Amino acid sequence: MIKVCKFGGSSVANASQFEKVKKIVESDKTRKFVVTSACGKIDKNDHKITDLLYLTFQHVKYGFDFNDIFIKIEEKYKNIINDLNIDINIDKEFDDIKNQIKNGMSEDFLVSRGEYLTAKILSKYLNFDFIDAKDFISFDYSMKIDLKTTKEKFDKIFVKNKNYVFPGFYGTMPNGDIKVMSRGGSDITGSIIANIIDADIYENWTDVSGIMVCDPRIVDNPKTISYISYDELREISYMGANVLHDEAIFPVKEKGIPINIRNTNDMDNKGTMIVKDCKKYDIDNPPFVITGITGKKDFCIVAIRKENISSEPGVIRKSLKVFEDFNVSIECVPASIDSFCIVVEKSRMEKYQYEIVQKIKDVLDCDEIKIINDVAMIGCVGRNLVNRIGTAGNIFKTIGDNNINIKFISQGSDEITIIMGIENKDYEKAINCIYDAFIKNNN
Ligand code: ASP
Repeated sequence: MIKVCKFGGSSVANASQFEKVKKIVESDKTRKFVVTSACGKIDKNDHKITDLLYLTFQHVKYGFDFNDIFIKIEEKYKNIINDLNIDINIDKEFDDIKNQIKNGMSEDFLVSRGEYLTAKILSKYLNFDFIDAKDFISFDYSMKIDLKTTKEKFDKIFVKNKNYVFPGFYGTMPNGDIKVMSRGGSDITGSIIANIIDADIYENWTDVSGIMVCDPRIVDNPKTISYISYDELREISYMGANVLHDEAIFPVKEKGIPINIRNTNDMDNKGTMIVKDCKKYDIDNPPFVITGITGKKDFCIVAIRKENISSEPGVIRKSLKVFEDFNVSIECVPASIDSFCIVVEKSRMEKYQYEIVQKIKDVLDCDEIKIINDVAMIGCVGRNLVNRIGTAGNIFKTIGDNNINIKFISQGSDEITIIMGIENKDYEKAINCIYDAFIKNNN
């Protein structure tokens, strides 16, 4: 049994968090591969190291003095080292970084130093070996992870039976330049390492005890999901839930490696297991009909009306092409007999909305086209929706009974998610009433 454990920024925010990490790692001999984010915030007045590094770069770029910010970064690491009594020459590391700043380094290089330093310190503290992500995590020129090269490089440096700490969030381009991933990318590093070493479990340690059924800022104390499939998680994350980086699922999914979301501040809590197929777990833990309720505000609907639209081939294609030409991606396209809607994120549409409307008018010669703003989408995700007759009906009844107007409905053919569009102002109320009807009052 081999576990890859990724610790997020809050898990390494100060010395006492480092102590918790050590306790977790040492309590299980199979936790041999540790991936870390850069130190995060201790509280809301503190700053994430990554944010401070981005800020440093902006100062350097525009010729402002960056010392005040850099001192904060140094202080954070020095406090951790002093509090934990770790023997590491951190001054040399900072001198190297400052020299690189003087010589003009890239933004990605500077920002990657957060994970680099955190991993160096953590490896000393755990007495694990350090492997730099730059030596194996490889991107191709389209900025995608090149898993084959990553594995080949890793196999050359990895020694069996050793324990390792790796910095997350960055790798190198084919020419050797450091490249960072999108924010939260250490989740992806952990998943890649789990894939290339064929781990049995990928543990993702954070500051919540698993994935909640819905956003705790909207519903008071929502229940936690015990088991969820990769596919359900994709749907929940896409629509707004923010526990794991979207792209972290693919490398482990490919090999069927379960992801376990755990809480560094509550190490005995089992958290959430994300697996390929929940069937065998569902026998002992019958799931709710709806696994998660998710969503986002601020979409806009482009509503198009033209008589006999359904018997005229190419109408939808022509209008979608207009969005493609403006590089605006589409969320869904609910259609009826003489009309259809194109739902897009308002922020993507705003800049081009007049051009888009005019272009659609030109290509379709439609009877009416209008933009409806301030739309929210709610997604009810569940692995059993496909077999449960009446679920959609019950969801819509709940919404109707609470006097909320549904603007459109959409359900994919795999029947994992039922999506509905409502007004922004009803968003919180809708999530609460679906939660009450399907989860809270159902157990
Ligand atoms: N440190 C980076 C961030 O704050 C990456 C990570 O934490 O995964 O986004």
